[in-house]
Amino acid sequence: MILVYVDHDRGTLDELSLQAVSAAVALGQPVEAVLVGADAASAAARLGEFGVTTAHVAADPRLTDYAPQAAGRAVAELVGTLSPSAVLAVGSPRGNEVLAHVGAILDLPFAADCTSISLGSSSFDITRNRWAGNVIENAVVHAPTLIASTAPHAFTAEPVAGSAPATVQEFTPALTDADLAVRIIDRTGGGGGGVGLAEAKVVVSGGRGVGESGFGPLEELAGLLGGAVGCSRVVTSAGWRPHAEQVGQTGTKVAPDLYIACGISGATQHIAGCKNAKTMIAINTDPEATIMSYADYAIIGDVSTVLPAIVDAVRAAKS
Ligand SMILES: Cc1cc2nc3c(=O)[nH]c(=O)nc-3n(C[C@H](O)[C@H](O)[C@H](O)COP(=O)(O)OP(=O)(O)OC[C@H]3O[C@@H](n4cnc5c(N)ncnc54)[C@H](O)[C@@H]3O)c2cc1C
Repeated sequence: MILVYVDHDRGTLDELSLQAVSAAVALGQPVEAVLVGADAASAAARLGEFGVTTAHVAADPRLTDYAPQAAGRAVAELVGTLSPSAVLAVGSPRGNEVLAHVGAILDLPFAADCTSISLGSSSFDITRNRWAGNVIENAVVHAPTLIASTAPHAFTAEPVAGSAPATVQEFTPALTDADLAVRIIDRTGGGGGGVGLAEAKVVVSGGRGVGESGFGPLEELAGLLGGAVGCSRVVTSAGWRPHAEQVGQTGTKVAPDLYIACGISGATQHIAGCKNAKTMIAINTDPEATIMSYADYAIIGDVSTVLPAIVDAVRAAKS
């Protein structure tokens, strides 16, 4: 049996987690899921459609919001009870953080960002991204249980034909106050109900070249195209946009149909987060910018004049 840690936010399923579920299903063993938090049951209900037989919900009133070590403790406790051959999660910041705790608690190695996994009886062959995807590592993990995350967008979430609803089973993990030392204690802003960056089909992304006050047309274009706004780390470091919008090695990894990179140079760490875009358009004043070697289409020009013209054209085309 393979156990998959499935993330959610107050009952809203993290769609990327379904990629890890499908990666587990492809390994040919029964798949069970573990979700952590008081509101998890509603998210758990959907998992049967993707091949999960049983969804274990760690119910504790203190677990309404994300608490990484507590989540790791809950998953580790379940590993002790169920003895799965592997524990997977999607390699989102949260998935990697929770599995790192699981590995530490169980004293097992953790392989992050895998793009392929095959199960053996006492060892596991994996391929994974290292150094922001610039190095592809083939490795053999020797462990009684594989703890591994799947690189975002390396696997496709696939419903399983004829599957039955998952059985939802609650359990109460034994948590100490220390397990809850790191937890969300307040939520402000964000959560505006827009399209999630990681799942967006269109991402309009801005870098230093957009400037602090230049994101209005990006928001407008993203809205017109049903997409999300992203940005580079320079932008989040300067406090122009929230970290939740950062694309890249230390931000969100996206795989949209269309990525529009505005005033972004194309540093390795940024490309690590957007190289899976199906089509990339770069808008940049510098024809020699690195991003040009990744872009399918390049517009050489000042983003403050190019983008409003695109917004006008899209608005006209839609009306
Ligand atoms: C460990 C580590 C992790 C990192 N993680 C990330 C990450 O996750 N994501 C990330 O993005 N970066 C990350 N970085 C930072 C990364 O190395 C770059 O510094 C950053 O991506 C550069 O951001 P930028 O392209 O917006 O800015 P710049 O590199 O300064 O590029 C600005 C671009 O805008 C163009 N430009 C200027 N004015 C205009 C205009 N008016 N119109 C059009 N174009 C214009 C310029 O020609 C230039 O190409 C990381 C770095 C490290 C060391």
